Amino acid sequence: GDRATSQMLNFVEELQAQRRELEEFLEQVTQQLAEFEDWTTWQEGAAESRRADSVGLEHKVEAEMQGLHREVTESRDLAALKVKVKARLDTVAHQLVEFRETEERRLAESEQRTNELRREVVKLKGRTNELLKLCTDQESRLMFDSLTGAHSRYAYEQRVEEEYQRWQRHSQPLTFSIWDIDFFKRVNDTCGHEAGDKLLRGVADVLGRYKRVEDFLARIGGEEFVLLLPMTALAPAMIVAEKLRTAIERQEFRHHGQPVSVTISCGLTEFRSGDTPTSVYERADQALYQAKQRGRNRCVAD
Ligand code: GH3
Ligand code: MG
Ligand code: MG
Repeated sequence: GDRATSQMLNFVEELQAQRRELEEFLEQVTQQLAEFEDWTTWQEGAAESRRADSVGLEHKVEAEMQGLHREVTESRDLAALKVKVKARLDTVAHQLVEFRETEERRLAESEQRTNELRREVVKLKGRTNELLKLCTDQESRLMFDSLTGAHSRYAYEQRVEEEYQRWQRHSQPLTFSIWDIDFFKRVNDTCGHEAGDKLLRGVADVLGRYKRVEDFLARIGGEEFVLLLPMTALAPAMIVAEKLRTAIERQEFRHHGQPVSVTISCGLTEFRSGDTPTSVYERADQALYQAKQRGRNRCVAD
């Protein structure tokens, strides 16, 4: 009803907000990648200047050495030679200091940039984990009906398609059943909507407990459930269905301490050649209608 609609609208709004968040995050990642590219380019540049500086230094030292050699072999004046040698050694020493200073500056800048980048990456990792958790939570909220805890209509649509594909490929039997609580409107009308919701939870709980583990239960509408029975032909499916129907019939539901008798009807059908999930649904719904017509609290197969 209206409540389900407003719940859905809230959910859609939330989805949209989260989508925007995801978009912002992706933009952040893109920016970060651009920064990373800059960093790489800068590192390459730094490595290149380092190489150029080393070669330059080597050439300069070599030139000084050659000059020194020339002066030593040509010189006749020891005092003048001393001065010249000292000047050349000073030049070499000065160049070494300059080289080292440049190198240190480069190293410091490189470290600073690397640290900044590392901090950013840590931030992004945290954000990625947050968003991943958000997506997982959202997925599980989509897959389950919040009122009863049974699978949602959305999950049902996925599963019936999967089972249908499997049935086509492996031609193992597949049975489809639809369930509808009898005179449910009366419960709402006489006991109130809250009690109706509580009863829905109770019914889903019993169906969930008595179904086989491999069977798939979903609430697909107000008070209607679908149970898919994979690898099960109609006759054994009927046995399972009867077990569920009698479990509901025997369950003691109470409203304000007073027992409320609750029954459920079921329409079943097996997938046949040429079927689609839609044709099967329609046939099962017809069988359910027959069950109601014949007095309710029964399972009818088609
Ligand atoms: P029968 O199926 O045996 O023919 O009778 P019914 O009274 O169950 O028939 P019908 O399908 O016409 O009524 C279903 C009612 O279920 C209508 C609505 O008041 C109620 N309903 C549907 N969704 C919800 C829900 O989420 N919560 C509650 N409390 N009631 C719901
Ligand atoms: Mg109904
Ligand atoms: Mg009903």
